[in-house]
Amino acid sequence: MRRVALLGATGSIGTQALEIIAAHPGLELVAAASGSQPVDGLAPLTQVGGDLTELLERAEPDVVLNAVVGFAGLPATVWTLERGIDLALANKESLVAGGELARSAWEQGRGPILPVDSEHSAAFQLLEGRASETVDSLVLTASGGPFRGRARADLAAVTPAEALAHPTWNMGPKITVDSATLMNKGLELIEAHFLFDLPYERIEVVIHPTSIVHALVRFRDGAALAHIGYPDMRVPISYALTYPERAKTPIAPLDLSSGLILEFSAPDEEAFPSLALARAAGEAGRTMPCVLNAANEVAVATFLDGRLPFLGIPEVVERTLNAIEAVEARDFDDLTAIDAEARRVASAHTRQLVH
Ligand code: NAD
Ligand code: MG
Repeated sequence: MRRVALLGATGSIGTQALEIIAAHPGLELVAAASGSQPVDGLAPLTQVGGDLTELLERAEPDVVLNAVVGFAGLPATVWTLERGIDLALANKESLVAGGELARSAWEQGRGPILPVDSEHSAAFQLLEGRASETVDSLVLTASGGPFRGRARADLAAVTPAEALAHPTWNMGPKITVDSATLMNKGLELIEAHFLFDLPYERIEVVIHPTSIVHALVRFRDGAALAHIGYPDMRVPISYALTYPERAKTPIAPLDLSSGLILEFSAPDEEAFPSLALARAAGEAGRTMPCVLNAANEVAVATFLDGRLPFLGIPEVVERTLNAIEAVEARDFDDLTAIDAEARRVASAHTRQLVH
């Protein structure tokens, strides 16, 4: 029996994880947590809000599925990594904001990190067992979101409802807006940098509207391997929870008789500046990815409230990045202070841009 602690149990990833756990006799749900929704009866140990590491201490899990949204997931990521407990990681924001911190925690525990983000699960599978010198680059695919193909001017008046209508994935609201701005791919770029220890110049992003190819790896001999499958998060969730068994899932096999459309193109960085902002913040390193993430969380929440225009999201992020200097975060308290400072600065810029 693998004892699973599920954080973010009421969300999009969380509820799909519950389905996978219920169907697998080798997985036992020992703890479940949410931010505010009730989780009574979901697991023997439950918690709503507060310090999730207290729940983890009591639960003694074999694997922690961190499916919390946002910076709030960071303490659980660090707790799990420090102890060398298997980390099934959906909460990309913790790795973006706290990449260096997570790396030192991992050096302490050296347990496996099993990515749940579909692109990173794919990349993990493509890279496993490869000598790093044979790998030229990693390619992350992006659907392009609901506004793919639109010019910048056509994005000025888009509404939260339009941004929430994602063409290929059904996800929580924050990541769905991130997909519409392409910030999601920017966060994933930083996530991939930390997960696979790849420099930014060796991680590419391409637009691939059907979301069938989840990632590709280019090797030095000219070969490129791709991971393909329907866009269904139950596949990477199951892979992470049952690794290395690769348990059976109820997902239909890929239908190759009806014609798969595998189309790729370069992202439009003028209409979707968030991707370049994230790349620059990643390359600047130190606390800049934490600032990027905090500013984005503030801007997305204000956009979802209907107050900030869509193009205000990258504007707030850019202004916040310009206003704060990169420093070294020595520990969790430093990082929390930087996150709070970035939120204050971002909120001030947001107020200047609200309708
Ligand atoms: P969601 O909004 O549907 O669910 C978020 C969950 O986190 C909820 O259970 C909520 O109660 C919980 N939560 C929020 N704040 C919390 C706090 N302070 N303490 C404890 N719990 C808290 O989000 P989601 O779409 O399931 O995404 C979760 C994470 O997975 C995000 O980091 C997202 O980027 C990542 N992810 C999601 C998908 C997807 O398909 N939904 C795909 C890839 C990666
Ligand atoms: Mg993803």
